[in-house]
Amino acid sequence: MTFSLYWMQSGGCGGDTMSFLNLAFPPIHELLELLRIRLLWHPSLSTLAPSQRQEQDERLRQGETPLDILVVEGAVVRGPTSTGMYDTLRGRPKKDLIAALARRARYVIALGTCASFGGIGVDAYVQTVGLQYRRIEAGGLLGADFRSEAGLPVINLAGCPCHPDVLAGTLTTLVRGDPLELDEFHRPLDWYGMLVHQGCTRNEYHEYRVEEVEFAQSGCLFFHRGCHGPLVGGPCNKLLWNGQSSKTRVGIPCFGCTSPHFPPSYPFFETQNIEGVPVALPMGIDRPHYLVYKTMAAAAAPERLKHRVTKI
Ligand code: SF4
Repeated sequence: MTFSLYWMQSGGCGGDTMSFLNLAFPPIHELLELLRIRLLWHPSLSTLAPSQRQEQDERLRQGETPLDILVVEGAVVRGPTSTGMYDTLRGRPKKDLIAALARRARYVIALGTCASFGGIGVDAYVQTVGLQYRRIEAGGLLGADFRSEAGLPVINLAGCPCHPDVLAGTLTTLVRGDPLELDEFHRPLDWYGMLVHQGCTRNEYHEYRVEEVEFAQSGCLFFHRGCHGPLVGGPCNKLLWNGQSSKTRVGIPCFGCTSPHFPPSYPFFETQNIEGVPVALPMGIDRPHYLVYKTMAAAAAPERLKHRVTKI
């Protein structure tokens, strides 16, 4: 049995394609072979002539060619004035083709934060939405009640970009017919049920509130440098990028790119705080307890951390 996959690029930077092309274990062609996935269309990997693609698109629209997995990368563009004419294919709004294919597909995957939640263009003139969300608001292009042929909502693989192993793992789960547990924003718990903070090599600095104030110091990036690691779910410090690193490991704060609120309306490298205490606290903690805990922890910080002897 083979699985057909159609990859649609819409309003985005193409970063999720770039990320997926870097899949290493196994490389893309081996993954597709192992899972018996037949690629109907991918903008960087397919060789169909425009007329062949057009014919295929029509067959898919009509249901004459079965579609197992639809992957959409990039936000759905609705502007100007809900026509979608800012993002077209063959003179027609891409949003209409996306909606038509989604109705035919067994599974629909929104790849990246723009496709999942609308991303950078939500409040801009391009009027973007995600496939089933507009930020945290359910709805998006397909509506809150949308379910694909297999009975699942759109599977949101958030991230800017999404880690290639997350897509590879999701495809493997779907092809094998294994259950896929989703969180409240329809992101698979296997990859979004952990915090970016988990696995960060700066954890001990966070614990004792030894903070990085200037870049390139050792220390935690939460209190001054805008790190969202304890605020958002994502596997960035578990599935390392290129198999070896992450933002926080090289001294860049996590920007919270898996969150429906991404991108934030304030600068990436600043922590919003009130009298030195971050406005957004680690997921699940209340303010009074956090204040007491952090004051005591800072007072108890070991000298090797205060002097930043412990390597990151
Ligand atoms: S740098 Fe960010 S992810 Fe790392 S320990 Fe600090 S808050 Fe957590």
